[in-house]
Amino acid sequence: MFEDRRSKRVVFVAHCVLNQNAKIDGCAQYPGAMWEVLQVLVASGCGIAQLPCPELIHLGLDRQVDRQASRTIESEDTRVGQAMEASAGVLCCRRIAEEAAHQVEEYLRNGFVVLGMLGINGSPTCGVETTWSAGGETAGRGVLIRELDEACKRRGVSLGARGIKAGEPAEATRVATEVSGGAA
Ligand code: SF4
Repeated sequence: MFEDRRSKRVVFVAHCVLNQNAKIDGCAQYPGAMWEVLQVLVASGCGIAQLPCPELIHLGLDRQVDRQASRTIESEDTRVGQAMEASAGVLCCRRIAEEAAHQVEEYLRNGFVVLGMLGINGSPTCGVETTWSAGGETAGRGVLIRELDEACKRRGVSLGARGIKAGEPAEATRVATEVSGGAA
């Protein structure tokens, strides 16, 4: 089966790798996709599976901001992080993680290669090597990435995650090249 033109290689990406319109207000670094990363992935011939944005789904595009309150990007990251760590936020991430892990399982069961997942370092939700807590970037995983780990473990599969940042395109491109096996 599947002996057609497909590469049978798939990479999972955090939603905002392909769509910066989903970012928290003030944090988008591109008009649309992180194009340098996208170029690498497309050139490598892998399929790109975009996860939903948990913060958009759970809190809305404006993240339920208080428009009258004085705020900074840091204070908003902290507020959003707390909301995503609360039980309803974790449940939202768990649902997304379960569906993603199901996809991983299906690809593997059918002999495809799952190259890994590109998350977003510094995000309280999609951070891989670093997340956001107590008002700053800290070592650790965001809620979605933790839930993905658990959902994959329950199915006996793994989805190696690597973190990138939209504000560090050269490093992001390097990581995307490593994950996809594509040319930089
Ligand atoms: S890092 Fe995750 S939660 Fe934040 S905008 Fe990107 S996809 Fe959404």
